[in-house]
Amino acid sequence: MRHEQPDDWFMNDSGQAPNAEVEGGVNTPIDTAGLRGKLTRNAPLAKLVWFKSGGAADWLFEPADLEDLHAFLTRLDGELPVMALGLGSNLIIRDGGVPGAVIRLGKAFAQVETHDDHTVTCGAGAHGVLVSSTARDAGIAGLEFMRGIPGTIGGFVRMNAGAYGRETADVLIDCDVIMPDGDWMTLPAVDLQYSYRHSALPDGAVVVSARLQGKPGDPKVIGAEMEQIAEAREQSQPVRTKTGGSTFKNPPGHKAWQLVDAAGCRGLRMGGAQVSEKHTNFLINVDNATSADIEGLGEEVKARVYKHSGIELEWEIQRVGRP
Ligand SMILES: Cc1cc2nc3c(=O)[nH]c(=O)nc-3n(C[C@H](O)[C@H](O)[C@H](O)COP(=O)(O)OP(=O)(O)OC[C@H]3O[C@@H](n4cnc5c(N)ncnc54)[C@H](O)[C@@H]3O)c2cc1C
Repeated sequence: MRHEQPDDWFMNDSGQAPNAEVEGGVNTPIDTAGLRGKLTRNAPLAKLVWFKSGGAADWLFEPADLEDLHAFLTRLDGELPVMALGLGSNLIIRDGGVPGAVIRLGKAFAQVETHDDHTVTCGAGAHGVLVSSTARDAGIAGLEFMRGIPGTIGGFVRMNAGAYGRETADVLIDCDVIMPDGDWMTLPAVDLQYSYRHSALPDGAVVVSARLQGKPGDPKVIGAEMEQIAEAREQSQPVRTKTGGSTFKNPPGHKAWQLVDAAGCRGLRMGGAQVSEKHTNFLINVDNATSADIEGLGEEVKARVYKHSGIELEWEIQRVGRP
């Protein structure tokens, strides 16, 4: 069933991913009859996220397709918290694991289609690089920035991911989401109330697809820009390490990396976690860090920056689960 969104759902949204304890958790029975996807109880998540740290999901569901996901969520009927997982490139999964059900979208959600009006329809599991390359091949410009951001379209929509002066809010027309109780709705971009690295996507909403608006462009020019982006990333960011992308949002008028650097945190270590020497707004897992090491280091950096500059940094990385 498809529903229009109620007018005031965003009033209750905290903008945070779920992190509550749940009664029952992993022991909550789930009826699997008829489900075609893979449901795993107590599923380790560390291998699925960039930091390679953190605990297990009470339940991990990898749906076979859209109908299967819809059937699963309808069956949960809002009884368990639901969290979507993309590539885990902006995520600390706490060591005590994630309560409720984590949804991971696979190949069935990774299709990308281009249209004559220079729009692109993509499944929420499609990677940014696939979306920008498919758009390039169809002569659609405007999505080049997605080339350098290592996440899925679902994560982009949730985080308002962006780079080089453009962000998801500039190109999103609308997205289809399934709510934790199985309700399905189309949300136009305006309803997501986008701001810098933030959307008002309701807690537990799983984005399943999105429509993006591009403009006519020359594939050669688009391709050249994408290559430049890839090269710039490689030089400035620790892209081949266990990391979580930008740790803190840039405060208005400031660059987070400069504040961290000025506070003397370059290379700072806590347990197996370290502030990257290459880009000081990146935390990296250098030696079997726990998520507590990584989050604790982030908190220490925040405190030092505040002491040094009086500026309070705000986490960009989503931190979810039980400590
Ligand atoms: C090396 C590196 C470079 C990066 N550079 C940039 C950059 O330039 N700009 C930038 O903005 N970000 C950057 N990031 C951060 C990250 O890539 C983005 O935030 C991206 O949007 C996260 O996508 P994901 O699919 O991995 O989401 P995840 O990290 O898996 O999840 C992030 C949040 O999105 C939610 N989410 C994921 N999928 C869905 C879905 N289908 N439906 C609903 N919610 C969902 C999760 O619940 C979570 O709250 C970088 C990260 C790394 C590691």
